[in-house]
Amino acid sequence: MSKLNKFKRFTVTSALPYANGPLHIGHLAGAYLPADIFVRYLRLKNKDVVYICGSDEHGAAITIKAKKEDTTPQAIIDKYHQQIRDSFIEFGISFDMYHRTSSPIHHDLSQEFFLNLYEKDEFIEKYSEQYFDEDYQQFLADRYIVGTCPNCHNENAYGDQCEKCGSTLNPTDLINPVSTLSGKTPVLKPTKHWYLPLDKYQPWLEKWIDTKEGDWKVNVFGQCKSWLKSGLQPRSMTRDLDWGIDVPLEEAKGKKLYVWMDAPIGYISATKQWALDNGKDWKLYWKKQENEADESCLLHFIGKDNIVFHCIIFPAILHAHGEYILPQNVPANEFLNLEGDKLSTSRNHAVWLHEYLEEFPGKQDELRYVLTSILPETSDSEFLWKDYQARVNNELVAILGNYVNRVMILMHKFYEGKIEGADKIVLTDKHLSAELGRFYDEIEINLEAYKFRQALQSVMEIARLGNRYLTENEPWKTIKTDPEGAKTTLHNCLILIGHLASCLQPFLPGTVKKIAGMLNLPFKALAFDREMAFDIGHQLNPPALLFEKVEDDVIDFQMQKLFDKKAAAQPQKQIEVAPAKENINYESFATMDIRTGTILTAEKVAKTKKLLKLTIDTGIDQRTIVSGIAEYFEPEAIIGQKVSVLVNLEPREIKGILSQGMILMAENAEGKLSFVSADGGFHDGSVIR
Ligand SMILES: [Zn+2]
Repeated sequence: MSKLNKFKRFTVTSALPYANGPLHIGHLAGAYLPADIFVRYLRLKNKDVVYICGSDEHGAAITIKAKKEDTTPQAIIDKYHQQIRDSFIEFGISFDMYHRTSSPIHHDLSQEFFLNLYEKDEFIEKYSEQYFDEDYQQFLADRYIVGTCPNCHNENAYGDQCEKCGSTLNPTDLINPVSTLSGKTPVLKPTKHWYLPLDKYQPWLEKWIDTKEGDWKVNVFGQCKSWLKSGLQPRSMTRDLDWGIDVPLEEAKGKKLYVWMDAPIGYISATKQWALDNGKDWKLYWKKQENEADESCLLHFIGKDNIVFHCIIFPAILHAHGEYILPQNVPANEFLNLEGDKLSTSRNHAVWLHEYLEEFPGKQDELRYVLTSILPETSDSEFLWKDYQARVNNELVAILGNYVNRVMILMHKFYEGKIEGADKIVLTDKHLSAELGRFYDEIEINLEAYKFRQALQSVMEIARLGNRYLTENEPWKTIKTDPEGAKTTLHNCLILIGHLASCLQPFLPGTVKKIAGMLNLPFKALAFDREMAFDIGHQLNPPALLFEKVEDDVIDFQMQKLFDKKAAAQPQKQIEVAPAKENINYESFATMDIRTGTILTAEKVAKTKKLLKLTIDTGIDQRTIVSGIAEYFEPEAIIGQKVSVLVNLEPREIKGILSQGMILMAENAEGKLSFVSADGGFHDGSVIR
């Protein structure tokens, strides 16, 4: 029944995070939580699986960050490798190996790959004109250059990729390229590089991708088809950079491998390291076998921005090498948004994992639960703090926690926590059994189809089923009238907790540990087993609450924090200032007679919106001026206001009123008006010049 049964072993990878910053919830929901759930499920089914990840420590993103923080690339990767790894461990992301691409074993393997392709004459060697920053005397690779994407016109596309539309680019594709080092327009200079002829592999790629129709997610398959349709171009696998893996050729001194050539090879080198540490054969997990049925099932979990690298470029490299298996599936997720806006590191609009751990100690499963419930599996989704609160309070506390707690309390109240009877206890209620079987099926089918949201729903249905069964059978009442019946009810409830915990294992490992503690069973006893049975005489541990309610002030604090961070990261808004007028000579200016004055009376001009009729004491006289300020000031509020008046402006009739002069006003970019006046102590009629 399980379609995974045809595979002997599994090689599961999650995208290598760049070691140039901390992780946020978007990362977790993209490539790590789904993979971890899947891997935990495979382990639960006793499958042979290795789960691989590591820090990507090469590429221009690292050197740019080092420059920004005024430190070395090595210091950057050491700092963030540690921080990222710690966050993963805390959230229970259960890698078998979390490696790093700065390791010698990885450098060696990447160079081996390059040489393998080089010796087979797979690369196209060519000189091309590349952008060069004259101030910094440096070629500008990938992220060292930004410009406008030719496809979607995003103004912040990188030299190798536009993150908005996902297209891969060459630096010369950018419109208005700018060096991120000097901020200047770079010049073109010739340099030699080694290109992977993707155009040559296109027919093979098309054939291979077509075999994935209906199996791969629609979004992933669709993206691949659209790239193939637009025609693949040769892509340079080397860079003029001073950080990364040396190109292993004498004539390429000073050049490094392109980060997207070496990063995916990082999955393989990490597996090699794991195999070395654990006495395993890494080749079983990566290489083609004599008998196809012996080959490992390779799965790449990634975010949608990495689809091209995992579905086109890396498979092309593996194919060109020839000895390696290709991915069976690449279940890429879409993006997670946060409170109505894109998650953004640069704008600091994120829920950072290391901050969550400090502010919500011991509540990793709560975040795992909420994120799994909203995974962007087929389209972008959104994290809202109010939704986090509602899901924790209404689902984890009220349904799951409540069910386990009720049963455990009654078991202790009636039987002092001891399972009593004559035989092993199993599920005896026919209806419960049938329903449970249905949920097991749903969980299996959905997990194997990478529909983790749906699978988690089905697990929660087991808790709902338990609550209903308990309420309908009322053992707290029947204990007096039918004690055997009450005992059967509670035993059924207890077995159901066992099933619930076993189905929860892929999703909420910390919670399962707590339940196993209360049940006084080893973690392993809660296997994915429909025939679960508990021993008679077994002693349960005292009940403990699984989840706590999230109060409003906690959520308010988080919302305020997001708001404050965003405000602090907001660049000062560009204010449009009117351009300067042409020069005039002093004589022209001196002809204007401007005086200080005071508003004596003010009234609206009938049938107009904007006009006020004012009486002004100019020091010279008291006169009438019509002014277009009615939308900004109430007449009664401005009586006594000190003003500046142009008194020798030719009188003019406005709406039948003779206006003698003009009040000077300052106007800002939004059209708001303010009086211009001398400070106190100036009598009306003082000259302004
Ligand atoms: Zn674009």
